[in-house]
Amino acid sequence: MRLFVAVELPDALKEAVEALQAPLRRFGAAVSWTRPAGLHGTLKFLGEVAPERRAAIEAALAPVAAHAPFELRLRRLGVFPGWSGPRVIWLGLKPAEPHCAALYHTVEDALAPVGFPRESRPFHPHLTLGRVRERRGLDALAAHLHAEADGVDLGAFTVREAVLFQSQLRPAGAVYTALCRFPLQGEAR
Ligand code: ATP
Ligand code: MG
Repeated sequence: MRLFVAVELPDALKEAVEALQAPLRRFGAAVSWTRPAGLHGTLKFLGEVAPERRAAIEAALAPVAAHAPFELRLRRLGVFPGWSGPRVIWLGLKPAEPHCAALYHTVEDALAPVGFPRESRPFHPHLTLGRVRERRGLDALAAHLHAEADGVDLGAFTVREAVLFQSQLRPAGAVYTALCRFPLQGEAR
């Protein structure tokens, strides 16, 4: 089974993201736009995992509960790996630090002993808005994104849990199913 750990987005913000995507879709570039229902912020991608390892993964994630709920703001557009050759178009998740980075490190530290190496790249919390399928027709969209990037702010929400998701890759796009929820039960300070 293909697994990842993520934070979900409230429905009202999923609608706001859909509204943000609408004019971007009209550029007609070869981009697969994320369906709003599946929008999430990935904390850790585990990849293909034997189903019998799931219980150990869920047990290892218990320390997540010690974290307190925290705010994330949907701010700034960007692309990976860079503006000269965008592959992924994203909306930034700007955290009220240090909580988000702390949760990320707890997840990394929890999963390393059960066989998931720590990420060496820096953590860039984001929502994937679209994936570039072909460069063709991309220039006008990229120029628009670049010009608009800093002005985008869809508001903030409170993260109250981390979620272990299963991802099933289907021709019409990945289908995500929440397998286990980890409420953030720490006291806000
Ligand atoms: P598709 O691969 O069909 O485009 P998807 O990327 O949404 O769909 P998955 O590949 O199962 O579905 O990925 C699940 C989540 O994990 C997504 O948020 C994705 O961006 C993230 N992810 C996938 N691969 C990696 C990776 N190698 N490193 C970090 N995050 C990843
Ligand atoms: Mg993928």
